[in-house]
Amino acid sequence: MANQPDIIAIKIDHDKCTECRMCYVVCREINFNAVIIDTGPQHLHEIDMDRCVYPRCTVCLMYCPAEGSIVESESGRSLVPPAADAWTDEKRFPRRA
Ligand code: SF4
Ligand code: SF4
Repeated sequence: MANQPDIIAIKIDHDKCTECRMCYVVCREINFNAVIIDTGPQHLHEIDMDRCVYPRCTVCLMYCPAEGSIVESESGRSLVPPAADAWTDEKRFPRRA
């Protein structure tokens, strides 16, 4: 699709995450289903990069209440609250035509 930014891997920082499940709910609501609950004893939330399309979508970043709990995997840059560049017309969800 034209003018779409490249997908960048993101992950949850479990030192900051409260496991509130808001990212799971909103990602399901918009039908990406990219937030999964792992099967370990703590049932931690994780982001499945086979499904997540960040920065083409930034919805979970807007709803997450825990500062710094979602980060870019490689750079470690915090995305909560969302960085200003996540709100540009090209990047925010839903897209304009
Ligand atoms: S950025 Fe969008 S697709 Fe990725 S986990 Fe968050 S809500 Fe789901
Ligand atoms: S919305 Fe934020 S604090 Fe809540 S489970 Fe997701 S990453 Fe953790």
